[in-house]
Amino acid sequence: MFPPACAGCDGSSTPTTAFCDVCRPVAPRLTPPYCARCAVPMTTFDADDDAADGADAPSECSRCRKESPSFDAVVACWEYDEAVADAMRRIKYGGDLPALRALCRGARPWFRRQLQRLADDTPLVPVPTHPVQLRRRGFHVPNLALRWLGIADRTRHLLRKVRPTPQQAGLSLAERKKNVRDVFHAPNDTPPGAHAVIFDDVMTTGATADAAAAALKNAGFERVSIVVLARAVS
Ligand SMILES: [Zn+2]
Ligand SMILES: [Zn+2]
Repeated sequence: MFPPACAGCDGSSTPTTAFCDVCRPVAPRLTPPYCARCAVPMTTFDADDDAADGADAPSECSRCRKESPSFDAVVACWEYDEAVADAMRRIKYGGDLPALRALCRGARPWFRRQLQRLADDTPLVPVPTHPVQLRRRGFHVPNLALRWLGIADRTRHLLRKVRPTPQQAGLSLAERKKNVRDVFHAPNDTPPGAHAVIFDDVMTTGATADAAAAALKNAGFERVSIVVLARAVS
């Protein structure tokens, strides 16, 4: 009866998209070339990279080549731009769950395509929150998103968060890394597999993704990828 709401404002959108016509142009999909490991556009960190004459262009950005993260690959549905950032603020700090539902509605076809590329037994592992933080907020964005993306049946809760962490927003990369060091644990009885995919709503610096991936690698997974709704690219 009513057109669905836009995830970024109070406008209306079509049943298959997350954003209205006003918000959509500032929510571009990530386009290549981007780093094969962390998915930032190659120009972000490679502007001053002087590749040797005739050498193939590197597939990873200079930051990943300098200090390799624990994850092997990142895919993101959207760039974390203003429209997505607005939506995430509404969701996380305003409890605007219809906005999250709208985001998931828009991202659903993209997620379906990503899952088709994975082996049937590849677990989708949400980045967990700490029970104290869950009680404070009342909902867990990654778990709700997986449900509303229609892929909860692929979910396996292989990680737990062993202590609450302070807000990461506004902190430097070094501070973020310190906050999340050893914060995720995979239970010892986790049967390791060849590949696990970590799911989170947003990836900014990658510090959280790195810590979560390190825990799954410690548990014996050979390859760990990251899939997110949105990825900050600058
Ligand atoms: Zn809008
Ligand atoms: Zn990279």
